[in-house]
Amino acid sequence: MNNRYSRQELFPPIGKAGQEKISTKHVLIIGAGALGSANAEALVRAGIGQLTIVDRDYVEWSNLQRQQLYTEEDAEKRLPKVIAAKNRLTAINSSVGIEAVIADASVIELEEWAKQVDLIIDATDNFETRMMINDAAQKHGVPWIYGACVGSYGISYTIIPNKTPCLSCLLETVPLGGLTCDTAGIISPAVNMVVSYQLSEALKILVGNFNSLRSKLVSFDLWKNQYSAIKVDKLKKEDCPSCGKKRSYPYLSFENQTKTAVLCGRDSVQIRPSLPIVRDLEALENVLANQGGTVQRNPYLLSFMVEPHRFVIFKDGRVLVHGTKDISEAKALYHKYLG
Ligand SMILES: [Zn+2]
Repeated sequence: MNNRYSRQELFPPIGKAGQEKISTKHVLIIGAGALGSANAEALVRAGIGQLTIVDRDYVEWSNLQRQQLYTEEDAEKRLPKVIAAKNRLTAINSSVGIEAVIADASVIELEEWAKQVDLIIDATDNFETRMMINDAAQKHGVPWIYGACVGSYGISYTIIPNKTPCLSCLLETVPLGGLTCDTAGIISPAVNMVVSYQLSEALKILVGNFNSLRSKLVSFDLWKNQYSAIKVDKLKKEDCPSCGKKRSYPYLSFENQTKTAVLCGRDSVQIRPSLPIVRDLEALENVLANQGGTVQRNPYLLSFMVEPHRFVIFKDGRVLVHGTKDISEAKALYHKYLG
């Protein structure tokens, strides 16, 4: 037996008993960008039992400045983020079970995962997914930790079902930064600060030390040297559609699932087929090669370049159309080349 967790066990609030608990826990991280990378690495180093990490995108050069799990080689190969993440995380701690899911988290999948995990960490970049996480967490009684950052600003809040207000309760009263898509740029210390808040809360939850949870909504701006911690307990709403007495979990209804979306901070549109399909990428490669563009394929996705657009087609049928922010243009291009 090695002593890889000795320093964590020497920390009295965790101890050997806490470490035992941590080693049995299953954590779900939605998003494998900057927040997802840093949360995943720390939790895997801390020795959780099982990690499920979900992301819909692949590694690009603009990610490398802050997304700590990825290398130039990953960007070169356009590896899906969760595949690159799993490679690195397994090298860091081979005893953790790691499930990598290349997907745009859907309502069905989120509910399935919520039934199995002990904690959900929000590392997404979009409002819809956060609200879906919020509803799934409430419905299945799973704690989740909200986190967002943009520029030098960051925000985090820990949501415990049937105890704290949920994200939906806070929406109208508290300014929640990072909920809208922003292209203002980001510096890595803002990421790491949010991750520090999320991780400390995560460790408390994993060892069952709920009394030590922060309970306040924290936000900061590292460049403007501002910090605030707001008490929000009183904002829990009786009539909240997600956590109130008569709940309807509006974000878990299929009608609210976005089929087509402009991606955050990117000149790109994602198109998701209304019914799940499995694309034969090899066959598609041959078809597209005859259409005059440049085709590249790795085991997970196919990239098809026809200036000034580039398509990235995943096995689950999702397509990213790069080079446009116009949904109808993207759909027309999709139908032209992909049926
Ligand atoms: Zn609520």
